Amino acid sequence: MYKITGFKRAFVLIVAAAVLVAAGSVLYWRQVTDRLSQDARGIIVSASRELADNFSRLLGAEFQLLSAVGVPLQEQALLDNQEALVKYLEQQNKNNAFTLTGYQGPDGRAVFSNGGVLPDFISPENAEYAYKHGHYISSRRKGPFTGKDILVFAVPLPQRDGERGGLVFATQTIEFYATTLSANATHGQGLTFIINRAGDIIIAYPRAAYNNVFEAGEHSVFDRGKSSLRMQQEITRGESGWTGYTLHGDHRFASYYPLRYNDWYAMSVLPTKSVAEQAQRLVLMSLVLCLSIIVVLGVLLVFILRMQSQSSRALFRMGFVDPLTETDNLNAFRFKFPRASAAFKEKGVPYALVVVNVNRFKAVNDIYGFEQGDQVLKQVAAALRGALQEGELFCRSSADVFLLLLQCPDRTELGRRVDALAERAGRYCLSGGECLPLSLTCGIYLVDEDVPFYIMMDRANLAWASAKQHAGQVCAFYDEQSRRQIVTEKRIESSMDQALRDGEFKIYLQPKCDFKTGLTRSAEALVRWQHPVQGLIPPDQFIPIFEKNGFVLKLDKFMLEETLRLLKTWKEQGKPVVPVGVNFSRLHLEDPHFIDVLARTADEYGVEHHLLEVELTESVVFGNVDLMKKVIDGLHAKGFSVAMDDFGSGYSSLNVLKNLDFDCVKLDKEFLVRGEGNPRMRQIISGLVRMIKSLGSGVVAEGVETAEQAEFLSGIGCDLAQGYLFSRPLPPQEFEKRLLEERDKK
Ligand code: C2E
Ligand code: CA
Ligand code: CA
Repeated sequence: MYKITGFKRAFVLIVAAAVLVAAGSVLYWRQVTDRLSQDARGIIVSASRELADNFSRLLGAEFQLLSAVGVPLQEQALLDNQEALVKYLEQQNKNNAFTLTGYQGPDGRAVFSNGGVLPDFISPENAEYAYKHGHYISSRRKGPFTGKDILVFAVPLPQRDGERGGLVFATQTIEFYATTLSANATHGQGLTFIINRAGDIIIAYPRAAYNNVFEAGEHSVFDRGKSSLRMQQEITRGESGWTGYTLHGDHRFASYYPLRYNDWYAMSVLPTKSVAEQAQRLVLMSLVLCLSIIVVLGVLLVFILRMQSQSSRALFRMGFVDPLTETDNLNAFRFKFPRASAAFKEKGVPYALVVVNVNRFKAVNDIYGFEQGDQVLKQVAAALRGALQEGELFCRSSADVFLLLLQCPDRTELGRRVDALAERAGRYCLSGGECLPLSLTCGIYLVDEDVPFYIMMDRANLAWASAKQHAGQVCAFYDEQSRRQIVTEKRIESSMDQALRDGEFKIYLQPKCDFKTGLTRSAEALVRWQHPVQGLIPPDQFIPIFEKNGFVLKLDKFMLEETLRLLKTWKEQGKPVVPVGVNFSRLHLEDPHFIDVLARTADEYGVEHHLLEVELTESVVFGNVDLMKKVIDGLHAKGFSVAMDDFGSGYSSLNVLKNLDFDCVKLDKEFLVRGEGNPRMRQIISGLVRMIKSLGSGVVAEGVETAEQAEFLSGIGCDLAQGYLFSRPLPPQEFEKRLLEERDKK
């Protein structure tokens, strides 16, 4: 998703850049053309001026050269001797670059360096001009001997004896000067002319096929427009200037500048097409440059975006993927939840948020190692995710906690589905074939209210907590009752410490009685919570909570001391004394000092150890037989007797019992209930009792409420009865009273 917008953005950027470049190029092109045509104008104007200057200087130099040639000719003797004159001229001609050099006398007779003689080579009219102005250049004319186009230069010699001294002249080919023009031509692009005011071409470069620039016919140099006309007039007037015009669709510049000699002009013509071409070339080059820059930038941009999208993908992974299971994490779940739930809502399908937790996962880690633990989590994740249906969500939210968003067309159906899911996900076998006793507990919040996600989570967690409280229960739905229960739990947890300090926990004693006589043989200490507001709270409501949070350790210790205090006072006050059983949570067994502390405490109160009976529940035994055996042996070594509590409530195993040396086994009251009106069950019970007795343990029947039960139990060999039939748990004073009465009766 991110990637797409990234590339889209890049694309838009590149297109925008291209448009900008295009617009820029057009503007740039105009600027460049403008600039270049200005430059071209500048160039052309200065070109004609420079050409005029250079050419004038060149002509000046030719005149000087001719004057120098003329100096010896001032001697009459040389002029009179034609042979010597020709020789002199020939020799001079070798030294200068003229085609021919010559002398034309005042009589009009022209002698050439090649020995030729012509009359009036320079016409009397032109000779007159030369005498008057000190120099003369002809227009283009044919050479007298070669027929080539030439120019004729002439300077007069000084007067001699009041008479004219004649003219020194020279001829030069037009071609010779054309090369001079070529040096001034504008990069071979334009035309260069030396013309007279009438537009007649004296010299042209490149060579022209016409004789007049204004009347060039099909080769026309100028149009018939206003600006051409103006130029023609200006030239006629001897002015310099420039003009721009369009000929055959091409724009051109022409500039013209008068020479210092004759009425000649230097003229340059430059088609601006070359300007446009130059501009185009420049713009093209710039464009190519720009485009390359854009391409490079584009590539760079794509590269950066790629990097960015890669790192954002990495970030995404970090933020939304659980590294262990490679599935969604809580962030991802929260992100997807609104849309997924909205889809269900739209379809009118109810949905539920389900919390799944692996029970005692810590134990898996402890016993089998983290690697196995990870495998378990991966497998559970795979099993849960694999069961998802369309539109449902899954994530691992923390270590061993998973979340599901499931559709729930039917509540019982969902309950069954989750049960089955948990059952399947909890099946985990090691490679060696050993299968772990994994179990999962689930809490389901059937979303029935528009509440924030965290409240939904709270509710699913509450449901989970309530499922957790009921051993064997896999899943529970969130409902008001479980919510209230949890609230109560929280309240209990927050007040337990204070309650213990304030002495709200009270000891009650329930007699264990002889079936026949009903006399009290021993007792069990049972705790009661005398709550200032809630009244008397039975232990079932708080012991499980205390077992979860460990407070039961403190409470048991308190009950032990209360019991010991009673035993001590009975003895001190000479009252009847019976052994008292004290309940100890399984948590104590994990404390290696448990037995020592027990013994030391009993000693502190000066109570004989045999008066104390340690009641341990059956579930403890089931967990770890070796440890249990060690504890029982240790307790026996200190002289305490040990009772197995609640036998028959869970997974009773006579095998286990066989290996453990209990002094007494207490049959759970559930056993009795199940035996009621069930002959088969009665047989089992009687068989069990017989076997327990054969192992050397005494048997106490709990929860004896009716005379029939008592009759049956005593009939099958139970030793003592603990139940309402004989007595309810009593406050110490009443219990003492009962013992006294019993003693008095005897
Ligand atoms: P438990 O050890 O099995 O205690 C016997 C329970 O059976 C007592 O319930 C007692 O009041 C009840 N009971 C006795 N005779 C009858 C009868 O004829 N009918 C019925 N229905 N019930 C009878 P209580 O006092 O509510 O205690 C419940 C459980 O709380 C105890 O079961 C024990 O597991 C736990 N508990 C009580 N006091 C302590 C204590 O100080 N420490 C620990 N760790 N657990 C305790
Ligand atoms: Ca007990
Ligand atoms: Ca019991």
